[in-house]
This record gives sequence, structure tokens and C-alpha cells, in this order.
Amino acid sequence: MVIPEKMTAAVLHGPKELKIEEIECPRPGPGEVLVEVAANGLCHTDVTYYAAQIPEKMRIYPLVLGHEAAGRVVALGEGAAGLAEGDSVLLPPVYGCGECDQCRAGLDNLCRRSNMLGGTRQGAYAQYVALPARYAFKMNPTVELERACVAADAVATVYYALKERVQIKAGDAVVVFGAGGLGLAALNVARELGAAKLYAVDVREDSLAAARRLGAEVINAEGKEKVFKELKSLSNDGIRVALDCVGLGATIAEAFGTVCKGGEVAVIGFTLEKVTLSAGTFMGLQKRIGGSWGCPTRLFPEVVRLLEGGRIDFDVLVSRFYSLADVEQAFADLEAGKIVGRAVVRIPH
Ligand SMILES: [Zn+2]
Ligand SMILES: [Zn+2]
Repeated sequence: MVIPEKMTAAVLHGPKELKIEEIECPRPGPGEVLVEVAANGLCHTDVTYYAAQIPEKMRIYPLVLGHEAAGRVVALGEGAAGLAEGDSVLLPPVYGCGECDQCRAGLDNLCRRSNMLGGTRQGAYAQYVALPARYAFKMNPTVELERACVAADAVATVYYALKERVQIKAGDAVVVFGAGGLGLAALNVARELGAAKLYAVDVREDSLAAARRLGAEVINAEGKEKVFKELKSLSNDGIRVALDCVGLGATIAEAFGTVCKGGEVAVIGFTLEKVTLSAGTFMGLQKRIGGSWGCPTRLFPEVVRLLEGGRIDFDVLVSRFYSLADVEQAFADLEAGKIVGRAVVRIPH
């Protein structure tokens, strides 16, 4: 393909200063591919960048936001191998330098010189994105890109959390605190990884209805303290794995209180709040907590296999579409709690 001179993108010029404008189209460098973005899922992290709720040193302007994308390869840079023009690809939100100790240990989500689409690099609320070919993960052309894009972040993040930050086992009972995009994806992935019983806690009835469609027994926590007691009695103290997808000190404490002896908690929701946990529960009850940041790229082929096998229920996970011109409206709707699961921004071509 002849690479166009210009492309349309949603560009952030300062806190809440977003413009849809024509900017220079990226060219694939050596070892890189140029991807025509089909769609990009809306993530709460987009809003924290948009509203500059991030440390000063992380603010880069101008910045094209967007880190949950799928698309098609349209051009290959010099020496780019393993992909061809027309290939469908899933793009990891975060990828490493490939050389530091963390990358060499298979944890490029913790790379010391990390790259984040829509964070440290131009993101995917844009017609095109260039990135190293080895980090564009090829998918069967039958995968529907417009909805599968949410696998790049929501599905991949919970896949890593469930598989490695806690070690989910076949037959486990699993509870998810927060049945938003991440929480619903977690219920879906937990089932795929062998969970026998699923529970979801949220304060929104529409989100809980979606969780029910994925087979979860649900609790509306509105006005309740100590939901963990209700969960313990509901499950006969059988919940071994809990995921906090809310990012509140209170929900992390509830998650920790919920799991049985030897239970494990993965913290996926981000918060700067402090949490108080009884040290005795780490020792006497052998409970564990593992945090989780994104997903190492080595796991992306496994995530792609879930998509290709039709194992992700996108009818539940994706509830709404926006056009690129309405991306600010989409951010506002997300903040106002008007979106169930994930919303997706379609990129026009
Ligand atoms: Zn995200
Ligand atoms: Zn690295």
C-alpha cells in the first residue's frame, strides 16, 4: 500500500484538550509494521490520561490516546518478518525493549524502558499505528476486529492475572469485584481456565445483569459493608480466588476477606488509596495478594487462541460503539457510568 501523507487521529494537546485532526501518518521503521486500526476499545486509563490524573512526568503532549486496538497490517518496514500485508493483528497496549532484565525474564509488561500505546507512544485512536512486527499478534481473518480489539487490554490483562498472578485451578470458585469491562472479561476467562463457580459483586444492576449472562451468581453491594460475609455464606466458604477490578481500598479488603484459607487475590483496579489487612491472615491463613499490570506479550498468542476459538463472549463484553469524532462523548459516558462492559470506538477509513 502507498502510505498516505496524513491521517485522522484524536490528539490530546493538554488536560481535557482533545482535537480530532489531521496529523502526519507514521512510517514503519526497521522491523516495524504499519497497522490500519479497525477499532479501539475504551478503557478507564484513557480518561485518566485525558484528564491528566497521572503524574506530571508522564504527561506528554501532543499525544494520540488509545491502547486497546486491533487492525490489519498495511505496510512492512525494512526487515519486518512474520507478517504480510492484510494480516489481522491484535496490538498489546504495553510492550518492552526486549533487552532489559525484566524483558529477558518474560515480564516485558514491567520493562524498564516500557512502551505504551497512547501513553509513551502514539496510540490507536488514529487511522494508523506503527509498532515492532514481533509485537503485532496475527489472528485468523475470521476474528471480528471491531469487537476483538477489547481483547488487547481487557481480556489479556485478566488472562495474565488469573493464570499467573493467582494460579487458578480447575474447579475453583472465583469472585470478581467490579463487573465492568475488566470484571466481565475476568468472568469469561475464569470459566475458560476451568473455574467451576463464578460470583460477581457490583453496585450497578445493568452490570450485574451482564455478569449473570456469563453464568455468575451476583451480589449488589449498594449500601453494604462486609460483603465478604455474604459471599462466604453463599459459597460455603469455598471461594479460593478473588479479583479486584474496582481499585478501591475497601474492595481490595473485601476481596481479601472473601477468599478461603490458602486463597489468592489479584489486584487489577488501580488506586493510590491505602489498604489495611491483618498480617495474621498472610501467615495463619496463607492468603496471598498479587498485583497485575497489563500482560506480558509472550501470553498474547494464548489470548489470540481464545478469540479464534470463539471462547470470548463479545455479545456481553461489548455493549456500545462510538465514532472517532465522538471520543470525548464516549469518555464522558464512561465516567458517568453509562457503559456496560466495554465501549468501542470505530476508526473510519
Ligand atoms: Zn487499558
Ligand atoms: Zn525491557
